[in-house]
Amino acid sequence: MKVVPEFVDVIVSRVAHLFFLNAWHITVRSEDDPPRPSGHEDCDGLTAMNTDYFEARMYFDSGLEPTAEGFEVVIHEVLHLVFAPMRDAVHHIASFITLEEDRERLVAQYERVEEQLVTILARGLVQNVDIAAWLKDDTA
Ligand SMILES: [Zn+2]
Repeated sequence: MKVVPEFVDVIVSRVAHLFFLNAWHITVRSEDDPPRPSGHEDCDGLTAMNTDYFEARMYFDSGLEPTAEGFEVVIHEVLHLVFAPMRDAVHHIASFITLEEDRERLVAQYERVEEQLVTILARGLVQNVDIAAWLKDDTA
């Protein structure tokens, strides 16, 4: 494990604040070879969460740079927490489906949609919010 770059910590706390995620206990890790989502091995971030206790652990590639691309990766992971109640609800609904194949299709489709929504929201923020200003003034 490496020292987490300051820009990562600042963005995580600013986005968590922006979306009222302050109840979450978020642990951030920076690693040379972080765990990556299966099927998305080029992805530089991953979030594991326990929604019962509002605990999240975020893993970022240690090579992440404070660029628009790097900002998007960090914001993307925090935004996954916004969707935690929806994710829980879909998994609950899926538990009522008898056929395993149908359960898996429902969950896979939900995950695809969550990924799309998190991606467009993160891009929208990066393109329309002065993230660099957050890094200059991290008092808020
Ligand atoms: Zn994602």
